[in-house]
Amino acid sequence: MRTWGILAALMLATGCGSKSTDAPEQAAAPAEKAMPSKPDVIVITLDTTRADHLGSYGYFRDTSPFFDSLAAQGVLFERLVVPMATTLPTHTSMFTGIYPTEHGVLANVIHGGSRFVTRPGVRPLAGWLSEQGYATGGFVSAAPLIKSTGIAEGYAAYTQPNRMERPGDQTTDDAIEWLKTVPEDQPMHMWVHYYDPHNPFRPVPPYDELFTTDKQLQQWARARNVAPSTKRPTGEVVKALPSINAYDGEIRFMDDQIKRLADALKAAGRWDDAVIVFMGDHGEGLNQHGQPGHGLVWDEQLHAPFLILAPGLKARRVAGTVSPVDLLPTLAELTGIEGWEAMAEQSTGMNVLAEGYEGRPVLSQTSARQLMFDRKMSYTLTSDTEKCRWQEGGRDALWDLSADPHELNAVHEGEAFDACIQALKTEFDRQTAHGASLGEARTEKIGDAELEQLKALGYMDDDAAHGTQDTPAQ
Ligand SMILES: [Zn+2]
Repeated sequence: MRTWGILAALMLATGCGSKSTDAPEQAAAPAEKAMPSKPDVIVITLDTTRADHLGSYGYFRDTSPFFDSLAAQGVLFERLVVPMATTLPTHTSMFTGIYPTEHGVLANVIHGGSRFVTRPGVRPLAGWLSEQGYATGGFVSAAPLIKSTGIAEGYAAYTQPNRMERPGDQTTDDAIEWLKTVPEDQPMHMWVHYYDPHNPFRPVPPYDELFTTDKQLQQWARARNVAPSTKRPTGEVVKALPSINAYDGEIRFMDDQIKRLADALKAAGRWDDAVIVFMGDHGEGLNQHGQPGHGLVWDEQLHAPFLILAPGLKARRVAGTVSPVDLLPTLAELTGIEGWEAMAEQSTGMNVLAEGYEGRPVLSQTSARQLMFDRKMSYTLTSDTEKCRWQEGGRDALWDLSADPHELNAVHEGEAFDACIQALKTEFDRQTAHGASLGEARTEKIGDAELEQLKALGYMDDDAAHGTQDTPAQ
């Protein structure tokens, strides 16, 4: 086990302000196929998708045959740990290259009718690419990513659900229709967001009957100390095994939609030479640690998939811990599109395709919605082998992820514990200071009509995403 002293030193050495502005680093694998000067950039985000529920991440069920076939052709990151198990903050981190405490979006919505807005002067991926002559299209499936949140900045075309969410086939239809409108000689950036694995889990036939409880599932749940039954704050009872079956059916539905999108991109001649990214925004409790939803800092809520396919990029797996803040600098250096240096410089992430990248500790935190319900904020620092949690006014903890990957046996003292908590606070202080240097944290009033809609959808209430942090597993 590496010590936290070394990890903290590594983090400082590779952190903010130390990036090179030399020519883009090449990926570790030698390029067999040249990167086009302005490659198409396709980002597909997978809402609420736990990495460990996909075959390429070791799941025992065939939930993701198409994703898995792509994973075998690209660079698969085994340990993406998201900064917050909440949709808008993590998507903002992906597209701006900085953490929630830095960009300022600390929740989907604020209780009482306001929302967080990204700090001034922070430029997103789509803004950069549209300035470089790209056709830009964003296609999202859920209310937390609608245009009025600001996440659509830089997208010339943007479609979203009329209500809370829409199924992935409709979002895919929109993306395919838009593709037909892009001139053949114009580079394009497309973002497609799938929301099907998000609660409620109601897969359509035949996906509703694809997965049924068997011994393997029971063993899987036992190893993770999954609570047989939990209750959402709405009072809804969540039975673990039927929930997992339905959740897996939703993932399989999403996988088939991704294949449909890929087929359309191939038919349009926009697949082979494109840079294609798959990234999850967070996972889901599924009754692990007594939690049905997300928004907390347990590994099953923070560990999401991440895959990159690109011309010349040889298939491999990267074991070291990475964060969604790494997406922007990685794309910048991989593509070398004009203006890449400024985007890499804005980010506090790293080019995780760079030769020798071995992972570093990354920070995560609970949603600021916790504060609205008088709950304490929690922060974690996760490395390849350890994770610690600092809980304001609560009990700090450390898990040895090598021996205890499901976080069932916390330690509350010792040298490793002290070093990790110290490294966590140092990183949090760095993010706080960097955020302040970017300008005032901002919030804005939500319009009445939208507020009514959000209320109707339960977004202004306490919800399943925000249960208590303490569990019997401690
Ligand atoms: Zn989400």
